[in-house]
Amino acid sequence: MYLGIDIGGTKTEMCLISSFKDKLEIVFRDRRPTQADNTFTGYFDRLRELLRKNLDKNKISAAQIQSIGVGLPGAVQHSKMVQGSIPFLKGIDLQEAFSAWISPLVPNFSGSFNFENDANCFVLAEYLFGAGKNQTNIVGITLGTGVGGGIIINGKLYAGSRGGAAELGHIEVIKNGRECYCGNFGCAEQYLSGKALEFFYNSHSSGNVQVTAHEIFQLSSKNEIASKVVSEYRKILARFLADVINMLDPSLIVLGGGVSSEKQIYSGLNELVKDSSFIKPAPPIVQNELGGSAGVIGAAYLGFNERGFV
Ligand SMILES: [Zn+2]
Repeated sequence: MYLGIDIGGTKTEMCLISSFKDKLEIVFRDRRPTQADNTFTGYFDRLRELLRKNLDKNKISAAQIQSIGVGLPGAVQHSKMVQGSIPFLKGIDLQEAFSAWISPLVPNFSGSFNFENDANCFVLAEYLFGAGKNQTNIVGITLGTGVGGGIIINGKLYAGSRGGAAELGHIEVIKNGRECYCGNFGCAEQYLSGKALEFFYNSHSSGNVQVTAHEIFQLSSKNEIASKVVSEYRKILARFLADVINMLDPSLIVLGGGVSSEKQIYSGLNELVKDSSFIKPAPPIVQNELGGSAGVIGAAYLGFNERGFV
């Protein structure tokens, strides 16, 4: 059985998959907040409890796990996240950390470990089992707590020479814009993530209540600030997508992350993108089909087909 773990800025999702062959056989899927225990030990202890609870519930022995695949919110080189948004996971030897993590459940675990950027896991799953099933060149973009990207070229995941390909969230979209944790200014992540949307709305609104990205979309038909924030968001997104298309010319762009489930962003988006695309029309830009679980399915798949897809 293949264990997948998708570590996002807000939540960590886990799933166990028994087969990828004819169809996806998901044994269980569960999640917990990432930041609730923002220390290395606390995080790994609670993550182990999550696994133990689900194994018990499904009457599965931990020894049946043959691989552990982990998606991380950053650039991954071998078994290290060299750049990323969760400080306590940055720079550590992940293989060592996850070996120690699984050992109380499976002493001398002999299965494989695979680590990959989370948006790469997302696009891999959508390419194999979701919206990109019948395509060969697609780009996946996650608009969640952060903004991530993944590229499939000729049916293969393109991770780059140092694991840093498709870091689309750190492409500059606004000159001298908001400072990003990566050290640059005006990165896509500072304008197109759900968090960014919330920042722009809440900093313009006089209310004391912090409004979520989903609520901002709901408010946008009746509230002037929400309407402006959403309209600006769509414009920046369109220009950003056009840049991605001009560089890679994919046959499909699949969106993931919380903001991707807001239907409003798709209406007229293709027309907006077309205006800035060199070749017209722009390719279809669609919502993912696997929902919030694409990343964790892609992570589990890493163990099934250990980089055989590259
Ligand atoms: Zn950045």
